[in-house]
Amino acid sequence: MENRINKNRKRMMKAAVFYAPQEVRLEEIEIPDISPEEVLVKVRAALTCGTDRKTYLRGHHLFKPPFVFGHEFAGDIVKVGNEVKDFKPGMRVVAANSAPCNSCFYCKNGEHSLCDSLFIQLSGAFAEYIKIPGIIVAQNLLSFPETVSYKQAAFLEPLSCVIHGVEVSNINLGDTIVINGAGPIGLLFLQVAKLRGAKVIITDLVEERLSLALKLGAYRAINVTQVDDIVREVKSFTEDNRGVDVAIEAVGLPEVWEKTIAMVRKGGTVNLFGGCKIGTKISLDTSLIHYSQLNIKGAFHHSPGQVKKAFNLICNQGIDLDSLISSEFPLEEISMVIDRMLNNQGIKIAIIP
Ligand SMILES: [Zn+2]
Ligand SMILES: [Zn+2]
Repeated sequence: MENRINKNRKRMMKAAVFYAPQEVRLEEIEIPDISPEEVLVKVRAALTCGTDRKTYLRGHHLFKPPFVFGHEFAGDIVKVGNEVKDFKPGMRVVAANSAPCNSCFYCKNGEHSLCDSLFIQLSGAFAEYIKIPGIIVAQNLLSFPETVSYKQAAFLEPLSCVIHGVEVSNINLGDTIVINGAGPIGLLFLQVAKLRGAKVIITDLVEERLSLALKLGAYRAINVTQVDDIVREVKSFTEDNRGVDVAIEAVGLPEVWEKTIAMVRKGGTVNLFGGCKIGTKISLDTSLIHYSQLNIKGAFHHSPGQVKKAFNLICNQGIDLDSLISSEFPLEEISMVIDRMLNNQGIKIAIIP
């Protein structure tokens, strides 16, 4: 009798559903149906991210509630649509959260992260199953070997963004650089910049993050709350106090953007990587930009080429990802995870459904 009832019912899964800012509920919802070009993945590990924190507090302009929360994950394919050729059930996979259209002006120009119809639609990692849209299956779904853990693979999306950031930052062998912000993005930047041969100074407010940065190879880790003038302090670690070759902002606050610009030497590169609140502004000293010939860059999102590079780095065990995971919780404890995320406790939290 019970069996018959179950057969008639839709198969259900647990998921963390976002209803409104500061309202995420753990619910039983239907496992998504897939269309011929889609893939269904059983989530084995998901990670929290700064974007999730922002979304929790203010909502997300691309997603209309209710939607399943979270976007960094890796898992096993359980079902593929009948038009999917390169994937089959049982494969360990990770997906980026978007895919470009490949036909707009920007895509044709090789600037895929600026795609006019960038498909940033993949949300739903904090659940037992996630459906991967066809356009992502075709371009940004990757199968990884058993030597890589699900948690490591789940770093694909943030690492792809960081690869993009490093590519535009003009980091050369022997450079001294500063990274303002030692959160997950800052600590990934630190490791990739070191692979590029840079000496890295890092700044943050949180001691736990700074000590991890030192463990991961930072030359100096400065607690902003313990110095009078952070700009002068950073410059004091460069030859003749001239400033760093490259300065990266990985916080997303206008006041930190301004300080980051002030830390670079003449002719240096500034990468204002952290996204600030919409509508905020900074002020710039025009003569500084002109006479000091600063290169000021922005870098948003990633392209499939950068996703592939991030994937290769993960598969080659090129950087320490495990150290960036501070704790691990089952999906049932999502409210505990959110609390920790809001209080900036730890670096990344793994959710194991
Ligand atoms: Zn993310
Ligand atoms: Zn496009």
